[in-house]
Amino acid sequence: MLFTPQHAIDELGDEFADPVSAAPFPETILRFRNDRAAAEIGLEDLDDAAWIRHFARFEPLPGAQPRPLALRYHGHQFRVYNPEIGDGRGFLFAQMLDENGRLMDLGTKGSGQTPYSRFGDGRLTLKGGVREILATEMLEALGVETSRTFSLIETGEQLHRGDEPSPTRSAVMVRLNHGHIRIGIFQRLAYFQDTENLKRLTGYVLRHYYGEEAKDDAPQRLLALVAERTARLAGQFMAAGFVHGVLNSDNINVSGESFDYGPWRFAPTWDPGFTAAYFDHAGLYAFGRQPEAIFWDVMQLASSLRLICDEAPLVAAMDRFPAAYTREVTAAVLWRLGLKPRNPEQDRALVQATERALTASKAPLDRFYFDAFGGQLPQSYGEPFAELRGLLAGYEPRKPRDHPYWEDSEPCSMLIEEVEAIWSRIAEQDDWSPLNAKIAAIRRMGEALQGSGDARHRWNEGRGEALA
Ligand code: AMP
Ligand code: MG
Repeated sequence: MLFTPQHAIDELGDEFADPVSAAPFPETILRFRNDRAAAEIGLEDLDDAAWIRHFARFEPLPGAQPRPLALRYHGHQFRVYNPEIGDGRGFLFAQMLDENGRLMDLGTKGSGQTPYSRFGDGRLTLKGGVREILATEMLEALGVETSRTFSLIETGEQLHRGDEPSPTRSAVMVRLNHGHIRIGIFQRLAYFQDTENLKRLTGYVLRHYYGEEAKDDAPQRLLALVAERTARLAGQFMAAGFVHGVLNSDNINVSGESFDYGPWRFAPTWDPGFTAAYFDHAGLYAFGRQPEAIFWDVMQLASSLRLICDEAPLVAAMDRFPAAYTREVTAAVLWRLGLKPRNPEQDRALVQATERALTASKAPLDRFYFDAFGGQLPQSYGEPFAELRGLLAGYEPRKPRDHPYWEDSEPCSMLIEEVEAIWSRIAEQDDWSPLNAKIAAIRRMGEALQGSGDARHRWNEGRGEALA
């Protein structure tokens, strides 16, 4: 794969972004480079020195955009509209094609202040960067459509944060995304009644992220596609046991890919009230409320599109979400259970029985999925699993348990205690070996779940796009 720069963002024009510069960091110590992701966009041959020039000093990539762009957006944060946000500590660094011909972005976190930093320092803590590596690697292995953490470089500054012992170390992160077009970008244009640019952005997203040219029905078409894709993401979160933590409309990508990981956690058990963010006192973004939260964000996209479209077709498009969610959570749980789908009714009943058994038993989630993979639930799973056991008998495995992972005594999981333990070793001894070992273990689990080769796109194989 040759590096193939793109300039699609230029189609959007000056109203969408501000040219910015990266902060001049005192140090640049390479901590993580994602060679697997780099290979997908033709950058795996960069040596470490060149990597640091591009991903800490932000020297432009050959043929790519000359200057970083801080994107403008608004959004609802915990249901309150905030017109003062935007890329406050990140920017779009470059666009390129990946090996599947998809338009990708390299975007940053912690690269310095921008016109949207408000009172913030524009920086990312090293711990925040390490946490984002762990979240993205785990989600990718579990078949969730996610951004990938591409690079993490420590930058030698002392940061002060309320939620970390301070001063704390700094870093700059680069992520690889299928676009950075947030619902909040549409909201901002609607806020300014900018119908011209709303139309332009709608066409841009349809063209570059959904492979379609805009026709008369462009707004409702876009909304329907976004509803389907974000419903899929919600289903994948539930099957992964993942709690994103901050499902604000500025953190929802219209490509349906999850990104921007702050106070995330994996749920130890199927507990709908399990909450990730310490500041989410009402549990708005708790584990079981994520589908509703994402749907709410999609409704904000619908409101924004109202400026360029009648109400009825938008309502019809939005109404796709609940059924799409049901279909997608079913597919995702079945996939994680390692089973071949049968038919929608039986599959749905199986997933509901799974949820009931997990709720009643409070069984550890990762252990359960590990033991149940392929459909042979061990006898140690007692009464709460009786109904499920009966239903599982009608299913065939989607792949054999022949990977060595299935011989392990423990499943690979990512609970908060382990995240903290990995960070402690870095903080106290500058020992990066537990992090690197964990990344290897996660990728090995990904192989067991997904088979050889590139795991990521396999998830969607044969499933087709749901939109007729
Ligand atoms: P988040 O909660 O990470 O999605 O961020 C919400 C908004 O706050 C975005 O506009 C960010 O760019 C901005 N932000 C978060 N942390 C910082 C920071 N340290 N410096 C500047 N802006 C920030
Ligand atoms: Mg954000």
